[in-house]
Amino acid sequence: MLRAPSSTGGRHKRRTGRGRNAQAVFGCRSQIGLYIIKRVKESGAQGKKEEQENRKETVTMLGAVVVGIGTAGWVRIRDMLAPVPGSPAEKLAVRGFISRRSLDSQQGVSQISVEAAISREDIHVAFICTENVSHEDNVRMFLQAGKHVCVEYPMTMNHKAAVELYGLAEEKGVVLHEEHIELLTEDYRELKRTVAGKVLQKGSLHFTGGALKPGFGFLAFSGIARLTWLVDLFGELSVTAATVEEDVSRSYSKMTATLLTSDNRPLVWIEERGPGLPRAKNINFHFDSCTLTQLPPAPRAAVGLFMQDLIHFSAKLANQVDPKELQREKVRILHCLELAQRIEQLCQS
Ligand code: NAD
Repeated sequence: MLRAPSSTGGRHKRRTGRGRNAQAVFGCRSQIGLYIIKRVKESGAQGKKEEQENRKETVTMLGAVVVGIGTAGWVRIRDMLAPVPGSPAEKLAVRGFISRRSLDSQQGVSQISVEAAISREDIHVAFICTENVSHEDNVRMFLQAGKHVCVEYPMTMNHKAAVELYGLAEEKGVVLHEEHIELLTEDYRELKRTVAGKVLQKGSLHFTGGALKPGFGFLAFSGIARLTWLVDLFGELSVTAATVEEDVSRSYSKMTATLLTSDNRPLVWIEERGPGLPRAKNINFHFDSCTLTQLPPAPRAAVGLFMQDLIHFSAKLANQVDPKELQREKVRILHCLELAQRIEQLCQS
């Protein structure tokens, strides 16, 4: 039986070095996601028996808090309450949520204060699901407190801050994970399979969607999911030009960025937002052998996207993810943020 620790139990010792804190919390690599509170009551056979019983019952969990109760925050709570059986996400237990508003309990989970979340020893993990502009401060605050962090993309609104946050996570020995559900969609997986082995000549990705909500930042950051597709498909990119058109009175904006692949193939990325615009991705990729003008059809995934991301994050907490993959992810995330910042600079100049 799995049982959450009491708030006085299950203290985890801080160690230095990336991933060691996760390892301390979980006990050891081979016992994924588990740490056991030893309650040695007395010596002798009876004591041993009781201890064995307690061991069975006190498999503890990683307590989590969700910051920001919008669409993403609500889904995070839902997924932690009903994780995929047998997955490492089962080791997460949601202990509360934080909101600027004063709210009733959500899905049976109570609101708690920032101070409580920071100081409680039974809270080890924070999910940052606020508007983009407040991600950086929230991530920093929880990392400083020695908590693992999962932040919805984009982690920050500038490259330098993200480098600092990764450094802070390393210093504290905790996991810093940025959600990228766009890479987990069946549409994207199918596109990636289709593109594999083809040589790009030129291409474009034009995203349209409804007006941007306040607090979601400049288009290159709010739309970083599209940039992440391009980098994941075609490798490292550079920015050669970028412009933005804005009509504040109509809540309309359009950004056009020209990118180059490492072998000098041009890619155009357009983000266009405004009331009534359909949410759509239009692609036009010319390869040596064919042209792709539509996303290849793909079935819907059996497991939801946020749940897939939750499993990936909790696998990181359990030290189940290859360090080389972690490094690749970090390099990709920082590269995309650097490109987004360069695009913003060019649009402003
Ligand atoms: P949303 O507007 O529905 O929710 C944001 C919530 O955060 C609001 O309820 C707001 O009150 C709250 N909030 C803002 N600042 C806060 C603070 N300082 N403390 C506590 N609460 C605060 O937005 P959303 O769609 O849920 O998006 C949230 C994040 O998730 C964004 O970064 C977005 O890029 C990312 N994301 C969302 C989706 C999605 O499908 N909705 C998908 C991928 C990524």
